[in-house]
Amino acid sequence: MTQILQPTGDRVTREDCVAADAANPLAGFRDRFRLPESVIYLDGNSLGALPVGSAERAAEVVEKEWGTGLIRSWNTAGWFDLPRTLGDKVARLIGGNEGECVVTDTTTLNLFKALASAVRIQQAEHPAKRVILTERDNFPTDVYIAEGLADFLNSAIERVSAETGTAYEVRLIDEDLPLEAALDDDVAVVALSHVNYRTGAMWDMAAVTAAAHDAGALAIWDLAHSAGAVEVDLNDADADYAVGCTYKYLNGGPGSPAFVWVNERHQARFWQPLSGWWSHASPFAMADSYTPADDIRRFMCGTQPVTSLAMVENGLDIALAADMTTVRAVSLELTDLFIRLVRERCGEHPLTLVTPEEHARRGSHASFLHPEGYAVMAALIERGVIGDYREPHVLRFGVTPLYVGFADVYDAVEALRDILDTRAWDAAEFKVRNAVT
Ligand SMILES: *Cc1c(COP(=O)(O)O)cnc(C)c1O
Repeated sequence: MTQILQPTGDRVTREDCVAADAANPLAGFRDRFRLPESVIYLDGNSLGALPVGSAERAAEVVEKEWGTGLIRSWNTAGWFDLPRTLGDKVARLIGGNEGECVVTDTTTLNLFKALASAVRIQQAEHPAKRVILTERDNFPTDVYIAEGLADFLNSAIERVSAETGTAYEVRLIDEDLPLEAALDDDVAVVALSHVNYRTGAMWDMAAVTAAAHDAGALAIWDLAHSAGAVEVDLNDADADYAVGCTYKYLNGGPGSPAFVWVNERHQARFWQPLSGWWSHASPFAMADSYTPADDIRRFMCGTQPVTSLAMVENGLDIALAADMTTVRAVSLELTDLFIRLVRERCGEHPLTLVTPEEHARRGSHASFLHPEGYAVMAALIERGVIGDYREPHVLRFGVTPLYVGFADVYDAVEALRDILDTRAWDAAEFKVRNAVT
C-alpha cells in the first residue's frame, strides 16, 4: 500500500493529517463505533470501544432470549454453540482453521489450560524437560500462572523430584539471559506474548516457534495485543497453542471472554486439568466420570457468561469486515506518525521511546518513558486524550485504526506538548493514584 500520509513540508502539519484522514481506506469504520465527541481514544489496546449494535445485542439477549426464551434459548438461540461459532470467527483473524479455537473463560485461565496441556505432552515424551520458559517483561499474569503451575506440579511430584533431583521451574528471559541462551534441552514449553504489553515490541512468531521446536519444546503464544491489531498466522508459524483477549482490539466489551486456540495435532492428546463438564464428550449425559470431548471443546470448563459472550460477535464481525493487511499498514503509519510528532514537537522534553522503530518488531502502540509519566497521563486524560500508564514511568498510546485517525494522533501529541510546555501535569490532583491505571 502506498503511504497515506504525504507531508507537504519538512514537518508534519495538521492539514497533512486531515488530508490523510480523507484518503484513509479505513475511515468508514469509525462510524461503526460509538465514541464520545470530546475524546481521543488511545487505549483500545486495553479496552476496545463500544461498537454500534453491541448494546442492542446485549438488550436482545437479556430481554428476548433470556426474558422470553428462558432456558429454551440454550438450544433455540445458539447459546450452547457460541464458544465454537465465535472461536471459528477468531480463528479467521489469527490464521487458525475451523474447529481449532473456542471463545471461553479468561486469557489467564486459558493460558493455564494451554500450559498444563503442553507440559502434559512433554511429560509423556520427554520427562526430563522441566522448564517453562517465559519473559521477565511479560504481562504479569502470564508469569504468575506459569509459577502457579510449576508449584502445583512440584507439590504433586515432590517425592519423584526428590529422587531424580529435578523439579519444574519457570525460567525468565531478560537482558542478561536472551532467548538463544535460555532455550536449552531442559525447556518443555516456550510461552511468550507476541506483542509486549508495555513496550509494544513484537517477537518473530515463526522464527521463535521454529527455534522452540528445534530444541524439542512446544510454543504457546499470548495474542492479547496482537489479535485484531497485527497480522497473525498461527498455522503458518506452526504454533502449538495460543490464547488472547476479545476486550482489547476485538472490541468485545469489558471483561468479555477470551479465546484459546489449539493446533489440531494436540487437541485429542491428554486432558487439560480444568476438566469441567463443558469439556466433557457429552455434558448432558451427566455421566459419573469424565470422558473428554475429542475436539476443541475439551478446552472449555464450565457454563459460559452468555450476555458477555454474545456481545463478542459484533466486534468480531467488524474486525472481519476490515482487511488485516490494511489495518496493519495504517497502524504502522499511525505509530510512525506518533513517534515522529513527539520528536518534532516535544523534542526538548525528557521523553524516551521504548517501542522498537523497526516495523517488523513493533505492535500497534507507541510507548515513552517520562519521569513524571503518571501525572502526565492523568493530565492528558483530563483533557480527553485517553492513553494509559504502565509501571515504571511508561506512557502508552495505542492506535486502533478502525476508529483512530491521523488528525487524532496530531491533536493528541499537541495536547501532550502543551501539558509538558506548561507543566500542567505538576498539580496535586494528577498525582493521586487510581486503582486501575
Ligand atoms: C491484557 C493481557 C492479559 C489479561 O488477561 P486476563 O485474564 O483477561 O486478565 C493477559 N496477557 C496479556 C499479554 C495481556 O496483555
